[in-house]
Parts: sequence; C-alpha cells; structure tokens
Amino acid sequence: MAALVIKNGRVIDPASGRDGIADVWIEDGVIKGVGTDLAAGTAEEIDATGLIVAPGFIDMHVHLREPGFEHAETIESGSYAAAAGGFTSICPMPNTSPVNDSAMVTNYIMEKARRHAIVNVWPIGAITKGSAGEELAAISSMHNAGAVAISDDGRPVMNARVMRRAMEFARSVGIPVIDHCEDLHLSTGGDMHEGAESVRMGLRGIPGCSEDVMVARDILLAELTGARYHVAHISSQRSVEMVAFAKSRGLKVTAEATPHHMALADQDMEPYDSNYKMKPPLRSRCDVGAVVTGIVNGAIDAIATDHAPHPGSEKMQEFEKCPFGILGLETALGVTFEQLLHPAKISLARVVELFTMGPARVLGIERGTLAEGAAADVTIFSTDREWSYDVNKSFSKSRNSPFDGKTFRGGPVVTIVDGRVVWRAIP
Ligand SMILES: [Zn+2]
Repeated sequence: MAALVIKNGRVIDPASGRDGIADVWIEDGVIKGVGTDLAAGTAEEIDATGLIVAPGFIDMHVHLREPGFEHAETIESGSYAAAAGGFTSICPMPNTSPVNDSAMVTNYIMEKARRHAIVNVWPIGAITKGSAGEELAAISSMHNAGAVAISDDGRPVMNARVMRRAMEFARSVGIPVIDHCEDLHLSTGGDMHEGAESVRMGLRGIPGCSEDVMVARDILLAELTGARYHVAHISSQRSVEMVAFAKSRGLKVTAEATPHHMALADQDMEPYDSNYKMKPPLRSRCDVGAVVTGIVNGAIDAIATDHAPHPGSEKMQEFEKCPFGILGLETALGVTFEQLLHPAKISLARVVELFTMGPARVLGIERGTLAEGAAADVTIFSTDREWSYDVNKSFSKSRNSPFDGKTFRGGPVVTIVDGRVVWRAIP
C-alpha cells in the first residue's frame, strides 16, 4: 500500500499529549511516525499548512436506517455524510428493522459496511429483544460479532429490573450500556420541551424531569452493578449535574452531548418547523448553558451527533405527526466551533478530545490517537475557512436539518480512513 505524508499541520493528539507543528507519516494503513521534516520520498503528500491534523473523529451515536429504512439512509450514504463531516468511525444505533438484537443482524451490518462504507462502522446492539424492553437480547453473541456497546436508543428501558440485568450482563462482557433516558410515563404525547414556549405554541410538552428520573435511576443501578453506563444525548441541567456527581463518586458513568443541544434552545425553534423536532427536545436556555458547562468541566465526555435521517415525506407533516430527529454528521464540527471554540469556552485540544479520545474511551475501542502503530484514521480540519451548509448537497439521503443555509467558520478539509483519503473539501 502506498505511503502518505501529511506535512506541516498543527498535530493535536490529546491521547499522547501532542500539540505542535509536525508531519504525520502513514504506511500500510497505520501511523508510522509523527515528527518534523519527514522526507516524503515517493509517498503521496498532503500539505496541511495552516490546518489542524487530528486523530480520526468518532461519532458514537448515529442512525443509518439500514436494514429496513433504506429510503431514509443506508450504511453507504451515511458513511459518505460521516466522511464529509470529518468522521472516520461511526456507531449505528440498533433501531433498524429488524432491530439489531442478534449476531445475525450485527453480521449483516458489518458485512454491508465492509463492502459499501467508506468509514469504520462499529455497531451498537440492542439491550432487549426488539428493543421492546422485556427480554435481554443476545448480548454476548452480538459482541462477538462486532457490537461495541448495547442500547435500546430511540426508546428507554422502562423496567428497572431489566436494566439491572442488562448492566450485569454488559459488565461481564466488558461493554458499556448506553441509555436513551426518557420516562415514557412522563413524556408520552409530548412534541417539544415543556415550558413557556410549549404553552405559547400550544404543543404538548416533554418535561426535563422525564430525562432526569431515568438518569438518576440508571446511576443508582450503575453503582449497584459496577457497570459502565453512558447517557446518550444528555440535554437537561439536572442530568448533567447528576453525571458530574456520579463521576465525583468514582462511578463508571459517562455522557455525550449533541451539537444541537449545545446550540439551540426551545426559544430558537422556527415555530412548527419539524427540523427542530427531536428527542430529547431542544430545552430551555438554562439547560443549554448546563450542557455547555458539562462539556467545559468534563462531566460530558464526547460530542455525538444523533444523526437521525427522515425523508421529506415524513418530516413534511404537521408538527405533531412528524417523527423525531435531525441530521447531524456534516454540521457537527461547524456547530461545535461556533458554540465552544470561537467564544473561547474550550481549547482546540479539548474539541479534538471530545471527538476522538473521549468517545474511544467510552466505548473501549482502539481508535482516537495518532500514536505510532495506531490505525491511520486522520481528520484534517480548518478553524477559520468559511463555508455554508447546503442540505440539498448533503451526502445523506435525507434533508432534515435546522442548520441548512448556515455559514460556519471552520470545518473538515480531508478525511483519511486506514491510510486512504476518503473525502476532501472542494477548495
Ligand atoms: Zn435517543
């Protein structure tokens, strides 16, 4: 396999504590070395002057819709959207049809990914059969087939006894349990965050406490079982506070936040525009501030997009009828810069950590570093190039984004997976 040298970029690799101008040498799909003045020789060369060179970004929460909903997204189309967003690894949630609750479905996803995806795909298996919340899924055989975590995402596990058993099982297998925290008894029928805005719009509300009570329960169960427990798309102030508290007690509790929950509040919604409808819903300004604080102080470990494609035919309905979820892969870095980096709330190294080492550690996968011998997954990005997001040019098969038409400062420039350039921004 050909060699590749990335010259003169600012190499930021939080996992090895590196931050400085250097060259990155790649051969046979692995990092051969990081240093200065590496002679290119016959190797292909990428000039990264003025750019940041980071470990490949990992999105630990996406929906690729295959098998079952290929009209919305496929493993292939989702992988192209991922590459265009600077992601080299993505973790599809199991709420497909059939649900990824057995090694057979996990194998199917792995095989499809091997043939058609341009980024690494690390499937997440279901916690319960059919994600129905009753009987545990075939957790160890899914894990053997390649599943890196379990979750019933899209739905919570309502039964605490089932969740306890899942945590005990996941602990014995050595993988984390990821929960979509939503008490359905409190949230059912709701379309947006419960508050003054939902009253003003005359829509039914989803209270913040529907998330909080599940986070509280799960943290108690994580303490009881010793399991690695991860909160998906954390969105409320109380939940962030509880995760910080759990961490301070030394529990193996982690959390991820989406770009939209750090950027948008319920007040920012275009009224009745389904591109602002997702779960958890866009919450109050106060909650948005708490999510940002959690990222700053370390309560939150990773940024994950919850990329949730829905075709126009489904999203172009009355607000109450349309499904929950928005695209996220291609805008994640731009939104993160706008909300966190440009206002100087966090350092560039912390941004890189949230997209690389953070999720790699939550999942326990061998990615997220540019150390010698590591898989050559590399994301090269800019922090100042202006670009506009045109959702109609998205690689996704769907178009549901609240960020359509928005101009960002900084974004991905080159995405490299296993030593191969899989995507490049058009200059
Ligand atoms: Zn979810």
